[in-house]
Amino acid sequence: SSIFGTIPEAPPDAILGLNTQYRSDPSPNKVNLGVGAYRTADGQPYVLPVVRRVEQALADDPSTTHEYLPQDGLKEFCNLSASLILGAHSPAFADRRSVTVQALSGTGALRVGFTFVARFLSPQTAVYIPKPSWSNHKNVVVQSGLPPAKEYRYFDYGTGAVDINGMVEDLTAAPAGSIVVLHGCAHNPTGADPSHEQWERVLQVVQEGGLVPFFDNAYQGFASGSLEEDAWSVRRFVDAGIDMLVGQSYAKNMGLYGERVGALTVVSSEGGNNEAILSQLKAIIRAMYSNPPKHGAMVAAAILGHAGMFAEWEEELRKMADRIRDMRQKLRGALVKNGTPGNWDHIVNQIGMFSFTGLTAAQVELMKNKYHIYMTSNGRISMAGLTEDTVEYVADAMKDAVV
Ligand code: PLP
Repeated sequence: SSIFGTIPEAPPDAILGLNTQYRSDPSPNKVNLGVGAYRTADGQPYVLPVVRRVEQALADDPSTTHEYLPQDGLKEFCNLSASLILGAHSPAFADRRSVTVQALSGTGALRVGFTFVARFLSPQTAVYIPKPSWSNHKNVVVQSGLPPAKEYRYFDYGTGAVDINGMVEDLTAAPAGSIVVLHGCAHNPTGADPSHEQWERVLQVVQEGGLVPFFDNAYQGFASGSLEEDAWSVRRFVDAGIDMLVGQSYAKNMGLYGERVGALTVVSSEGGNNEAILSQLKAIIRAMYSNPPKHGAMVAAAILGHAGMFAEWEEELRKMADRIRDMRQKLRGALVKNGTPGNWDHIVNQIGMFSFTGLTAAQVELMKNKYHIYMTSNGRISMAGLTEDTVEYVADAMKDAVV
């Protein structure tokens, strides 16, 4: 008998499993609102034209090679990524207290970051994630060798807004040195972000309690359509001069999902140890996957480093954010028009790619079984998965599910 024969099957991933079910559904009416990827007004995947152009130029350039990158990735890409999230004039650069490495998208940034925490802070470090959060956070924390993540109150199901008092209370009780995972903007899955004033309160508890923020930025530019506005929270915390980690992903904002393009930045409260920090991040990466992939980082660096292409990218981001906001209006409009009971204002008030509809797990099941509309069991729908053609169908199905 095989030594592998008794290995139990892992439970399917809540989000990725949904896509498999969707693909095998033969219904012509099926709608996928589970996927966290942008779709065009025709429901198609989107390659940003500026990305396509850079890819073509790279392919035609005889100096393009497939040589290895160093463990920490493409230097220009790292510098440009750090500037994008921290701001070109960040005090962290002036004080030389930040280190950036390329990462395998946002997930990889978290994975390397938490491994670094487990190895060099303490393997017992407590990690606090919002309740609810992106479902993969808890997996990454444990796989990185840390104890299971604890949750802090984040969302008020009654008001549909951030439960700021609960959040502050739970973080006040967290032991000094704990890591606090914060979604920089466009909180997934709730679409509810703290206001600037609420961020100030969070910063205050973090500072007073000696907590270490780990900012997860998967949607910079997608929440408001502005790269600057969406980086406000991270920059505010960096300005406060505290120790923190910052993860970045170009999956959504450049549409580079499968190319795995991201970065991890370690910001120290005082400079002086950058070389040691970088050397240890490189050592972690060396043992995990040696070095990151090159293609996507070359594409991102070309766009980030060229004023004209950067401006074009910003315009594309605004358009994508606008289409999502437009779908929010249309869905809410259709629910009001068809007389679905309840208040649906939260659909337009929420931010980012997702709407946390408030549908129960049973209602989500009905939508799937009767209407072939797929969403995660917590009632989260991807607004980018809606089109003019499907929005009324979805609203009518929601009415049936709710009444
Ligand atoms: N963090 C959050 C909050 C996310 O929503 C996502 C993607 O859905 C990620 C991280 C990681 O995505 P990726 O690894 O594709 O960059």
